[in-house]
Amino acid sequence: MSLAQHIDPEELVGQLHDAHITEGGHHHLRKKMATSHLTPYGTQYASQVDVPKYRLPPNGAPSDTVYQMLRDELDLDGKPNLNLASFVGTYMEPNATQLMKENLAKNLADNDEYPAMMAIHERCISILAHLWGAQKGEKAVGSATTGSSEAIHLGGLAMKRRWQEKRQAQDKDAYKPNIIMGANAQVALEKFARYFDVEARILPVSEKSHFRLDPELVKENLDENTIGVFVILGSTYTGHYEPVEEISKILDSFQEETGIDIPIHVDAASGGFVAPFTHAGVGGPKWNFELPRVKSINVSGHKYGLVYAGVGWIVWRDQSYLPEHLVFELHYLGGTEKSFTLNFSRPGAQIIVQYYNLIHLGFKGYQEIMENCLANARLLSKSLEATKWYTCVSDIHRRSQRRGVVEGAKLAVTGEQNETSTDYVAGLPVVSFRFSDEFKKDFPHIKQESVSLLMRARQWIIPNYALPPKEDKTEILRVVVRESMSFDILDKLISDLVSVTETLIDNDEIDLSILKKQKPAGSSTAKASSAKDQVTNALKQKEKRMEDGIHRTVC
Ligand SMILES: *Cc1c(COP(=O)(O)O)cnc(C)c1O
Repeated sequence: MSLAQHIDPEELVGQLHDAHITEGGHHHLRKKMATSHLTPYGTQYASQVDVPKYRLPPNGAPSDTVYQMLRDELDLDGKPNLNLASFVGTYMEPNATQLMKENLAKNLADNDEYPAMMAIHERCISILAHLWGAQKGEKAVGSATTGSSEAIHLGGLAMKRRWQEKRQAQDKDAYKPNIIMGANAQVALEKFARYFDVEARILPVSEKSHFRLDPELVKENLDENTIGVFVILGSTYTGHYEPVEEISKILDSFQEETGIDIPIHVDAASGGFVAPFTHAGVGGPKWNFELPRVKSINVSGHKYGLVYAGVGWIVWRDQSYLPEHLVFELHYLGGTEKSFTLNFSRPGAQIIVQYYNLIHLGFKGYQEIMENCLANARLLSKSLEATKWYTCVSDIHRRSQRRGVVEGAKLAVTGEQNETSTDYVAGLPVVSFRFSDEFKKDFPHIKQESVSLLMRARQWIIPNYALPPKEDKTEILRVVVRESMSFDILDKLISDLVSVTETLIDNDEIDLSILKKQKPAGSSTAKASSAKDQVTNALKQKEKRMEDGIHRTVC
């Protein structure tokens, strides 16, 4: 969500007036269009009724008219299922959608009014804690959140507070907390540091570290003020899992040497619902509460939890890791509820359908979906590399070393039919790819972003952006394979990618960079005026943010 700017309709009119836009004599109409909706066809109002866009209309407008008007306007949005830039779910089963509709009016904050919903919330936490290796003798606690961002902020806050309390108990200052993360961290992690006054130690990633947090660098950056390490299970850039166990061991050694105990929070926004179900897991080592140093884990229910946008989860391995000072006790008619969230009111329907998914799909159901996503992602990766035009930066299609010789021989006989994700490097069902070195040599003038732009013309949304700082000379195209990418769609995607690349090869004189620079829809070419400056300033900032890539703000 970007910040929206207030628009003053009178300034907008003034600006259009200054620009002498007459549009074939429709001077008045063009002016009116800028600030009012022209009510649609199919109603008795036709275009004679003025519905202001930026001011509250005094009398409102008929419901069917407004409905049609908004539907039409929203036709200009991309198609969610073809938005391959996002991890966030775009499909739910009809029964789940029905349940959501029936429960849209429920507020998760109203504990007392909706006890059944609260019980469902509790069961979700229980299921997740168990799925992530909750240990006997510990009492895991957790909460639903709006997404992983809120969950990460809560996890970070608990670490900060625990560190402060420990420092104060030792009579030491607690003014300069820092937190460690890789440069591949999603924006939510850096947001935590900035919003909650913690120094972010953002460590560079490299090809050698598979564009993930580099354990060697972690070692060099620890000190007594380190409140914790964010380890990401499923990097947003390339889908690689960060080595939680290896980092945990580094922190063990640090503790042995210095006595300083530094916790890990695992950001499993995507991986929390992928790794536990796939045959490959995280590729061998441990990543969850089986490691004593992992104190909290978050996941986005709305990513591979397969729920529509609006739900995340955080679980602490034991209630003792939740500083009491942060937990609010809410007294209701029926008793006392504890709460640790940033929001109060929020929709409850997502929690209900999260539970629907967990119960309806069960372990096997999630496993089949995740294995299928990975199989499709491998197919896409292998097809792209078969063209020789592309190289994958993600590794989930490369054979893992784990399978023994005997099993390997068996596989050679049975063919690829029986393979699972264990035969390959573990990771998210994400395909990050770039032009191959040979391709770049043969066609140095072709820009990779042109692939994204031409694919957009065919309705696909595939971002092209630079890898994190220090590796940002490399641009990647990235496709997130979600449940809804059926085999047919995948087939079409591959053939469109091939045909778009051929178009670029065959037409070496075309320069598509103008497409990237085009003005956002709706902005006029009015000469500079203060009013115009104000209106387009926000848009300019947006352009600037995107100058390093297309659809840079991927999630
Ligand atoms: C998506 C994502 C986030 C942010 O999660 P939201 O649910 O969108 O708030 C944080 N970290 C990682 C690794 C992610 O993939």
